[in-house]
Order: sequence, then C-alpha cells, then structure tokens
Amino acid sequence: MRRLYLIGHPVAHSISPQMQGASIEALGLDYRYEAMPVAPESLGRAVAGLRDPSVAGFNITIPHKVTILPLLDEVDATTKAVGAVNTVVNEGGRLKGYNTDSPAAVRALGEAYGELDGCHVVVLGAGGAARAVASGLAPKARWIRILARDITKAEALASDVSKHHDVDILGVGLGEAQCNVGAADILVNATPVGMSPNVGNSPVDARLLHPGLLVFDLIYSPERTRLLQDAEASGAKTLGGLTMLVYQGAEALRLWTGRRAPEDVMMGAARHALGDGKR
Ligand code: NAP
Repeated sequence: MRRLYLIGHPVAHSISPQMQGASIEALGLDYRYEAMPVAPESLGRAVAGLRDPSVAGFNITIPHKVTILPLLDEVDATTKAVGAVNTVVNEGGRLKGYNTDSPAAVRALGEAYGELDGCHVVVLGAGGAARAVASGLAPKARWIRILARDITKAEALASDVSKHHDVDILGVGLGEAQCNVGAADILVNATPVGMSPNVGNSPVDARLLHPGLLVFDLIYSPERTRLLQDAEASGAKTLGGLTMLVYQGAEALRLWTGRRAPEDVMMGAARHALGDGKR
C-alpha cells in the first residue's frame, strides 16, 4: 500500500481525507490518504519522513503552503508563479511541488462564467488562495484589483503577479470596494469572512452587488454563504468553493497515481462530510 497525506496545522477540520478516500475506493487503488497534523516547528522533520518510498505524495494546507517551498527539490511553473504549493509528488525520494489550487479555481470559474478572456476581476483578500486565483486569472483578465484590509499585502501580491504576467493588476484597500466592485464582472472572496461558524458575516456590502457580476466565494462551509445569498438576491450569478476543492483534489490524485479521479464521487463524499456535522 502507498500512502498519501494532508499536512497542516490544524488539519482535523479538513474534508480532504473523506473526499480522497472515496475516490481511491472508487478507483480500487491500493492507497491510503490521511490527515497528519504538523506544527510549524516540526515541518523539516515531517518532510524528511515524507521522502520514504511508501509515501506517494502529500497535500499541504495552512500554514505550510509557502514555508515548505525551500524544503522541496523542485517545483512546477505554476507553483513558481503563485509562490505557494499545495501538492507534492514523491518521485523516488525527490519531492516535486505543484499548485493545483490555481488551475482548479480557473476551471471552476470558466465553467460558471464562460469565456474569461477580457474579464474584470476583484479579489478580496491577499493570502494564499487570493494568490492562486489572481495568478491563474492573470493571463486572461483585462484587469485585476486585489482588495485587502492590509494594503501593503495587496500591493505585494499585485507586484508578484505582475512579475510573471503582463496584466493590469493593482493592490488597494478594502475601502475601495465601491468603485471596483461596480466595474467588475467577477468578484472573488478569498478571505475566511462568512466561513462556518461565522455564517452571518459577509466581506462586502450587499448594496455593491449587481446583476452583471459572478460572485465566487472560495468558502465551501457553508456551501451557500451569506455573500452568495446576497449575490443571488441582487441578481448576480454565484459559485461556491466546493467545485474548486474537488478539482484541486482530483488533479492532485492524478499527479500521484496517474489515474483520472471520479469528480462526481469526490463531490458526493465532500457534501456528505460537510453534512455530517463534522464541521
Ligand atoms: P490566508 O492565506 O490566511 O489568507 C486570508 C486572507 O483573508 C488574508 O488576506 C487576510 O488578511 C484576509 N482576512 C482574514 N480575515 C479577514 C477579515 N475579517 N476581514 C478582511 N480580510 C480578512 O488563507 P487562504 O489560504 O488564502 O484561504 C482564504 C479562504 O479561501 C479560506 O476561507 C479558505 O477556506 C478558502 N480556500 C478555499 C479553497 C477551495 O478549494 N475552495 C482553497 C484554498 C482556500 P490578513 O493578511 O490581514 O490577515
């Protein structure tokens, strides 16, 4: 049996083990996927252990997506452009990093929105997920505005993305939402605002939402956040975070096993895990 892990701190809340477990079972693979809590001070030791040949690879979540980079032997171009890694493949003791969040976000958005070329995008937040979304959309968007409560983080993200892509991208403060959201086609929430248990919160004033908008909330618990409910009420289209979660997991499983993951099975398992009241 080969082993797969999710490392992070904390990891107990994650539904990836249920989602990947269902996929592995459906494909009849001799793999096992488990969550492994790894505190920041133990990261080096944990990564050394994950080079063992019994380990096919692992996923990485908060807070290690950036700090693990120097511990890997190689990373792919997407990981370099995003500056964060969420999937590692163990190739005979050599660890190669990939970022499957970024293409998963673009794929989910493209399916919900249609042709993304020339779109105007506002991203709320300047953390790892915002980085993955902005970097993924940069080759297609006409402009991207990163809105964060800490303007220096928004500016740093915009500056990093523009090093890899020729795109009109600016980092501004959250207070700039009014003019930017009004002119946008796509609004992405890449903050945890509205995540369970704070389900009454929304990162943006509902009065700024409009029918010309697609609102993509990366949060998947709850599936319909306050922001998405406000968006629906305003006539905007909506997309929750579960599709992206399934797509990033399916691509990770393909990288580890070479097999195409059954995304419908993964979606069912993810919904079941969320509905189980485990989070
Ligand atoms: P992160 O790296 O911690 O970044 C979070 C961002 O949100 C930071 O810019 C942070 O600002 C900002 N923020 C936090 N609390 C805020 C508040 N009360 N008001 C305004 N801004 C706030 O986290 P992440 O990995 O990017 O994840 C962000 C969200 O995306 C989470 O909800 C996560 O579950 C979701 N996500 C979903 C998927 C998926 O597959 N659907 C994948 C990845 C992440 P500061 O830097 O100032 O704290």
